[in-house]
Amino acid sequence: MTPKYSVVVPIYNEAAGLTELYRRVRCIIDQMDGSAEIIFVNDGSEDESLSLIKELRQIDFRVCYIDFSRNFGHQVAVTAGLNFARGEAVITMDADLQDPPELILELTHKWQQGYDIVYAKRIRRAKEGFFKRGTAYLFYRFLKRMADVEIPTDVGDFCLMDEKVVKVLNSMPERNRYLRGLRAWTGFRQTSVPFKRDPRFAGTVKYTFQKSLKLAIDGLASFSRIPLRVATYIGLLSALVSLLMVILVIYWRLFHPNSSLTGYTIIIAVLFFLGAVQLFSIGILGEYIGRIYEEVKKRPLYTLNEIVGFESYTDKNFVKKPNHIHEIEINK
Ligand code: UDP
Ligand code: MG
Repeated sequence: MTPKYSVVVPIYNEAAGLTELYRRVRCIIDQMDGSAEIIFVNDGSEDESLSLIKELRQIDFRVCYIDFSRNFGHQVAVTAGLNFARGEAVITMDADLQDPPELILELTHKWQQGYDIVYAKRIRRAKEGFFKRGTAYLFYRFLKRMADVEIPTDVGDFCLMDEKVVKVLNSMPERNRYLRGLRAWTGFRQTSVPFKRDPRFAGTVKYTFQKSLKLAIDGLASFSRIPLRVATYIGLLSALVSLLMVILVIYWRLFHPNSSLTGYTIIIAVLFFLGAVQLFSIGILGEYIGRIYEEVKKRPLYTLNEIVGFESYTDKNFVKKPNHIHEIEINK
């Protein structure tokens, strides 16, 4: 017997909020119309997260976990969760309670109405810095214009997917995974549910600027080939400019033979400009070639220490009394 719902949560140093997360998710899955499993993917946490997950597993058999041998990053952690999820509908959400678990019920209602992908769409982000909100806002709109597939704006990884969507995602071999794009690419019946993004419950942001930038470049490079064309366009433009210059020089020579047209400054400036354009274009090429390199190496996406809870799933309401985790109220 398999659960009806799977909730996939990637965990990277989230010990501070983990029991609260469990408490709130638990309240929700207790109200659901079918059985559920909670899959924690421990993405190489250095804090107490793993031992907390193990304790939760002790008191609630619906908690399963996958333990990575090191930190592989958020997108890979979610991917692993999807690989192991057994539910007919799979919910993916962040561990920091920025994605309110209470919204899961709304997501499942939409699923029952026949949608295969239900996105949680942020209408407001509470207490996130101006820089983060601003860059996210611009990036999503930029990506929308650039991408080959319709990727919805202001939508993160918090969503519900039908098992057929998960199957398609699991069959995708690519390494640089921009799940939001891959998910949209599958093209099944999609809708969204609006929500207000809460501030982080505890702990610090795990997405450093570097990680966010990598995710953004992954998104762009995996779903758009326009950057590759940028080099061509700039090349064409500079060819046009140099043609104009030649015409200008000929004109000057014929009609103003005594004036000196150029100085060193302009030559140096043009040299620098062209050098910059070339380096930029090589950089873009490098992004794509790097990606090809990643793909052809065919390394596994992640390596595992341990997987627990996936052998069997029984539907009896087995919940032992917690004696060592005091924060958890079992009866809501
Ligand atoms: N996360 C992860 N691996 C990482 C970074 C983050 O599994 O290398 C998880 C993290 O524990 C959280 C989710 O990804 O559950 C989102 O991270 P965070 O809240 O820091 O990002 P943001 O809210 O800025 O998107
Ligand atoms: Mg967060």
